[in-house]
Amino acid sequence: MINDEIIGCTKCDRLIKYREFVEKHKKYNEEYWSRPITGYGDINGRLLIIGLAPAAHGGNRTGRIFTGDKSSDFLVSSLYSAGITNQPESRSRDDGLIYIDSYITLALKCAPPENKPLKCELKNCSVFLFNEIRSMVNLRAVLVLGRIAFDSYINYLKTENVDTKNIKFKNFAYYDINNIRLYCSYHPSPRNVNTGLLKKDDFVNFLISIRSYINGNI
Ligand code: SF4
Repeated sequence: MINDEIIGCTKCDRLIKYREFVEKHKKYNEEYWSRPITGYGDINGRLLIIGLAPAAHGGNRTGRIFTGDKSSDFLVSSLYSAGITNQPESRSRDDGLIYIDSYITLALKCAPPENKPLKCELKNCSVFLFNEIRSMVNLRAVLVLGRIAFDSYINYLKTENVDTKNIKFKNFAYYDINNIRLYCSYHPSPRNVNTGLLKKDDFVNFLISIRSYINGNI
């Protein structure tokens, strides 16, 4: 239901043009998905992961969140090392990837030019994100990947009348808010990874600590 609504969404003129008419990368001889990208995984899981938006030649090409690009390679191999996915690779919609006890979604469901969404586009799309969060009845922890995902979750908390003024984005910080722990990380973009801002070992250890928290071990 909610996913049908997302896939059929035409609220943002700029993004419709971009997702449908972005020039195909030479190395991909295939039809692009070119529609909004839904969340993926177990909506009854205890962990929610929020990313920014589909990449033009990643999710916008393959039709699945964090699939078929460099950010996906880093993220999913790290999640696998922490026991949060069943395999280290995310290449295509039929590759058998499973998110264990967790669900992953995006602050913005359509690929934006240069990975830079407009405020009005994030606001349009927040309805879907907020519905996804409210659907997760077993939620214990939320991991936000980057500042835009963080801001989107803060906007959700405001709708729940949470006082958010002392909650600041900081890499590997966490906050306990109404029985749900919010974890913050830099986005696993090639720029953050290649410059060493986000290091694989540190990120995996952070994910392991999230999993331990969910399982009640810390
Ligand atoms: S970004 Fe969200 S609100 Fe905008 S067109 Fe895509 S799905 Fe709809």
